[in-house]
Amino acid sequence: MGNVLDELITMSKALGDPNHDYAILGEGNTSAVADHDSFWVKASGTQLVQACRESFVRVRSLPILAALNESDLDDKAIKELLKSSTVEGARSPSIETFLHALCLQLEDVQFVGHTHPSLTVGLLSSINSRKLFAGSIFPDQIVVLGPRNAYVPYADPGLPLALAVRESIQEFLDREHRVPKVVLMENHGIIALGNTAQEVLNITQMLVKTCRIISGTLAAGGPRFLSSTQVDRIDKRPDELARRKDFK
Ligand SMILES: [Zn+2]
Repeated sequence: MGNVLDELITMSKALGDPNHDYAILGEGNTSAVADHDSFWVKASGTQLVQACRESFVRVRSLPILAALNESDLDDKAIKELLKSSTVEGARSPSIETFLHALCLQLEDVQFVGHTHPSLTVGLLSSINSRKLFAGSIFPDQIVVLGPRNAYVPYADPGLPLALAVRESIQEFLDREHRVPKVVLMENHGIIALGNTAQEVLNITQMLVKTCRIISGTLAAGGPRFLSSTQVDRIDKRPDELARRKDFK
């Protein structure tokens, strides 16, 4: 077990592996908790597949979180804030640093992976995207992703997107009384929230598999969701809870 930054680098390379088609070129960004008041986040202009120590900067959480409550920041002020909040690393933090800061505040979330898997973005850009993700289809989906996802309507990248994600997660917490594993972003991509780097990879992998299965169901009339009783049964089965532990 290496240190957090090494684990973040390994996770980022895996998420950026072109064979997976989760992200290409400069797409996607990742982060991890560094200590109680700062976190590592991908620097702007870097590629996940080429992740190395220089690809990440360490940023203070407080000023970034405070900016989420200020609606009058223009592009220049945001850029300056990102720069002044950086405590380690020469590059500028990703514009999605705001989104990472708030996700890393959630209980048990230590690593975050935001990607644009083609299969998933295809479904999330469809007319019926909300309906396609409104239920669970198969047991392992529930074990790894939980019974429900948070869903975010399209928003401009940067601060507006972070605010939309915050609202969606808050609504999820109020409704489900647990932290989501996945945030689905309409016409954009996904956020995987993990306790470990491996969990972020597992979540991303299982979500993309789920999307492949949803696509399959569309060839034959659309998904048949499991009933809420069936979903609850998988979600709370002692053997499934034990398996879930093994995933971490
Ligand atoms: Zn994105």
